[in-house]
Amino acid sequence: MFENLSDRLTSVFTNLRSKGRLSEADINATAREIRVALLEADVALPVVKEFISRIKERARGAEVSQALNPAQQVVKIVNDELIAILGGETRRIRFAKTAPTVIMLAGLQGAGKTTLAGKLARWLKEEGHTPLLVACDLQRPNAVQQLQVMGERAGVAVYAPEPGNGVGDPVRVAQSSIAEAKRAQHDVVIIDTAGRLGVDTEMMQQAVDIRRATDPEEVLFVVDAMVGQDAVNTAQAFMDGVGFDGVVLTKLDGDARGGAALSVREITGKPIMFASTGEKLEDFDLFHPDRMAGRILDMGDILTLIEQAQRTFDEEQTAKMAGKLASGEDFTLEDFLDQMMMIRKMGPIGNLLGMLPGMGQMRQQVNQIDDKDLDRVAAIIRSMTPAERAEPKMINGSRRARIARGSGVTVGEVSSLVTRFFQAQKMMRAMAGGMGIPGMPGTRR
Ligand code: GDP
Repeated sequence: MFENLSDRLTSVFTNLRSKGRLSEADINATAREIRVALLEADVALPVVKEFISRIKERARGAEVSQALNPAQQVVKIVNDELIAILGGETRRIRFAKTAPTVIMLAGLQGAGKTTLAGKLARWLKEEGHTPLLVACDLQRPNAVQQLQVMGERAGVAVYAPEPGNGVGDPVRVAQSSIAEAKRAQHDVVIIDTAGRLGVDTEMMQQAVDIRRATDPEEVLFVVDAMVGQDAVNTAQAFMDGVGFDGVVLTKLDGDARGGAALSVREITGKPIMFASTGEKLEDFDLFHPDRMAGRILDMGDILTLIEQAQRTFDEEQTAKMAGKLASGEDFTLEDFLDQMMMIRKMGPIGNLLGMLPGMGQMRQQVNQIDDKDLDRVAAIIRSMTPAERAEPKMINGSRRARIARGSGVTVGEVSSLVTRFFQAQKMMRAMAGGMGIPGMPGTRR
């Protein structure tokens, strides 16, 4: 996500760091470099102009000239302004006073609407809602079936036209879905609508008709972030055609540049509400402008990492680990394996590491870390006897050879794992003094 932009901006700041006081020439040069970086990221020109002028104005002001570290202060300003163009506060869904809350999705074909409908339904369900997915894309072949599959995966009911009963009339389907939601006590209705490859008046009219018929609390415009600035033109067309309350960016996982994300809010005046970052149902979250800015500037996204950890680790496991650390009890290979499996559950290791500060610089290496490596380590530990796991010191040459044979790796790999384990154990012992693991839920800092 946003790798290219992130690399460009961090290198601008690296150049700046060596400077004590900033001259007018330094500020101009920095502003120029940021401008180029944004244009290369495919950010809309009016947005770039506005952004640069704000940066320059603030960089010339007292907050920088009087700062202890002027370069750091410039980074802070850029961070503030990035947060501002990404929308400032996180905008959450508004729920209707009387159920059901209707959420209507609009966007071009292929934007990721149907996938998103499933993700949103799953997310709402996790938040304690009882959503109903409604198939009103009756144009794209298989769209209804695709939504049914999504609903099944998300464990959410899907309302679709019965064959022969109102087939081909998405407005009627949308309307009757609300009665169904009331009957079956769904508190949210998510309406998936038809898209076209390009903006066209018929599609727009259908969206307007559905909007009128269902009076949604939220109309969400769904757009593929990978199309860059084109997203802005499409957004404008939907704004004029049907109108919307918020934007959902999809395929951010494939978006190295960030042009759509950085332009769409300023141009449409509507907040980005959700971000979709992959094909799986879980690859989806609220859009947090501050965290996104932090990622772009490679300041890490620790908050998201912690939330992900909290969602994945069950409390018992975490408490057990924290208790172990606090009591100074020894950290065994069994714990090592437990921890590794917990991390493995959180998702691809590259994604996780990418959220840590400064990791942008090491992207190359991070991308080379393979989840399979973790699985190999797990296989090695599983080939050990319980006694070996509890007392790894006993793992001598002949035991190593046996473990290697059992797990299908080389003896060298077993040795390097044991060495790494002793290092981890040492670290754990050092931390057991009551410091806890920073950011680990359930442990003291
Ligand atoms: P629709 O025509 O707007 O309903 O689009 P679909 O939901 O059918 O999505 C089009 C394609 O994009 C599908 O192949 C999806 O799997 C894929 N897709 C959707 N969202 C994402 C995402 O966030 N990341 C990636 N990599 N692919 C996505």
